[in-house]
Amino acid sequence: MSWEEVRRQKSPCPCGRGFILKITTENDWFQTDETSDLECTFCEAKNAAIAKAGRPYRERAAALQARARSEAEKRFLPSFLGRLDGKNKKQIWAEIFSKNSYPSLGTFYQHVSSSGLENYLRSYFQSKFEHSFPNEYRDEAIDALLREATENIAQAEKAEGAVE
Ligand SMILES: [Zn+2]
Repeated sequence: MSWEEVRRQKSPCPCGRGFILKITTENDWFQTDETSDLECTFCEAKNAAIAKAGRPYRERAAALQARARSEAEKRFLPSFLGRLDGKNKKQIWAEIFSKNSYPSLGTFYQHVSSSGLENYLRSYFQSKFEHSFPNEYRDEAIDALLREATENIAQAEKAEGAVE
């Protein structure tokens, strides 16, 4: 399938010395895609400096989150899976998602059939335990790791914001 350029737009970059180039392409099915290119050495240098200032904190935060996730998995995933053991897919969906608007039962079946139930539940646990799970899947050690991660993100934002 071929993609053809249908639009090319230049707008000023944040510092005003260069520009941002947006290119819109379209394929045979009229689906469009847009790429955006910053064409300004000053803004590029600033973005690189911002990324560099925040990187140590962001890397530390990511490591802390990963540790919290693996601790939670070690201690609580078995009981999370155990709670659902012996239930059929519909009951599992009802227990986990019936209060949410997403995924619908049909979408849940689709996801589960493509990844396998246990894999699906494991990734669900990994993606949700930080924010949406009740306290029964958390403890103080995990909370401390997550708090430290949050502090590192705040420090990253501060360091990034301080770049002139
Ligand atoms: Zn610029």
